[in-house]
Amino acid sequence: MTKQQALAQIAKRIARCKECKYHPKQKPVPGEGNPDAKVMFIGEAPGSKENETGRPFVGRAGKFLEEFLHSIGLKREDVFITNVVKYQPPNNRPPTKREIQRQLPFLKEEIAIVSPLLICLLGSTALNALLPEIRKPISKLHGRLIEKDNRFFLPLYHPISPVPKRTFLKDFAKIPEYLKKIEAKQ
Ligand code: URA
Repeated sequence: MTKQQALAQIAKRIARCKECKYHPKQKPVPGEGNPDAKVMFIGEAPGSKENETGRPFVGRAGKFLEEFLHSIGLKREDVFITNVVKYQPPNNRPPTKREIQRQLPFLKEEIAIVSPLLICLLGSTALNALLPEIRKPISKLHGRLIEKDNRFFLPLYHPISPVPKRTFLKDFAKIPEYLKKIEAKQ
């Protein structure tokens, strides 16, 4: 099975997940992008635009993410973009612990298939879901490379966080540097 086929199978399973969905208008939003991407970006949960289109990061947060990607010479097609939770929570509230526990296995499978060199955690939901043992806030960890179980993680502020743009640009500028370091270790 190719990576593309394996990802398509996960998307099908997400779409069939009865416990993930509360309302007939909720659309599944699986990860998308380059199945061979070196870098994966993980957000929190789909918003309204994502729910309309079934695609991650296509609303306001997506515009910012694309801008930050362009600042390091990347396009969204070059990377893999996904979320911890694959359905928009009701009333756009943050996902509950239960929703995260239920849907996290899909994200873990996406990571295993794409197997990116670097996993960028956009905001505290992604940070806490994948690195629960690190009990530090994103404000202390953003821009710092973390190694766990032979994978490399980079916590970053969520693109719509109220932090200065220069902070995002500074953190994103580290991505190519970290990639070089990680590649040299392979
Ligand atoms: N915010 C997220 O965390 N994910 C999306 O897909 C859109 C907005």
